[in-house]
Amino acid sequence: RSRAKIIEAERPTTGFDDIAGYDGVKQEISEVVDFLRNPGRYTAAGAKGPRGVIMVGPPGTGKTLFARAVAGEADVPFLSVTGSAFVEMFVGVGASRVRDLFDQARRRAPSIVFIDEIDALGSRRAGAARLGGNDEREQTLNQLLAEMDGFDQSSGIVVLAATNRPDALDPALLRPGRFDRQVTVPLPNQVERAAILAVHARDKTLAPDVDMDAVARATPGFSGADLANLVNEGAINAVRNNRTRIEPHDLDAARDRVLLGRRESSNALL
Ligand code: ATP
Repeated sequence: RSRAKIIEAERPTTGFDDIAGYDGVKQEISEVVDFLRNPGRYTAAGAKGPRGVIMVGPPGTGKTLFARAVAGEADVPFLSVTGSAFVEMFVGVGASRVRDLFDQARRRAPSIVFIDEIDALGSRRAGAARLGGNDEREQTLNQLLAEMDGFDQSSGIVVLAATNRPDALDPALLRPGRFDRQVTVPLPNQVERAAILAVHARDKTLAPDVDMDAVARATPGFSGADLANLVNEGAINAVRNNRTRIEPHDLDAARDRVLLGRRESSNALL
């Protein structure tokens, strides 16, 4: 695979409006938007802007969506990588790829760097006793830390990262001046589930007797990704039956499918 595929650069049009619920997270993260829109305001006050924010939460809760929305809201370029891909694809050259990534971010600043699955890079290190692949990971991590330490007030780069394994993070990542802010992105509650369902039903036709509040009640433990999937499966079910309008039973069938899919993917982990 080419390196272009690992470091993705784009200019998202996603905004906070595309994210239902999570007002608290939006509020916490809006300071990053504010900084990227106007880094000079911080410089003028002698303040260091936010450098790194780690979003912590279960899979599918919209961490990637949040990162893209921050870039969209601030109207800045978005450079993204996945920690596990970094470690796997760049054996021997991880550190230099991190340098590449930040060179690109500096050229395009103000900009956002997003690292998904940061735990794959920044797992707790076990001192000098480690050998082989762990050295590799350590060099990659050290380069990331060096890049973040090198930001000055006017760098205009914010690093957003996501993990669902906060306990596995190397404490060095969490030192001041690095990822000094953590935002929790939990599973949605019932009200939030209804709002997420509504966002994903925006461009679909629903039968008048579809009750999204009932669907929200029947889906405890579903993530935003599960709910997006549910609405889409419901639409597919309608198409299968030569309809364009989604009926309540399409959504019931879709819910069962999503539940089954979740069970199968968790079995696959065993
Ligand atoms: P992972 O940890 O598995 O990478 P994630 O937390 O990054 O997951 P996303 O990939 O951002 O989750 O979310 C997947 C999809 O779920 C989004 O593209 C969106 O369609 C939907 N989604 C998640 N949360 C929300 C939300 N709050 N509002 C609307 N859609 C949502």
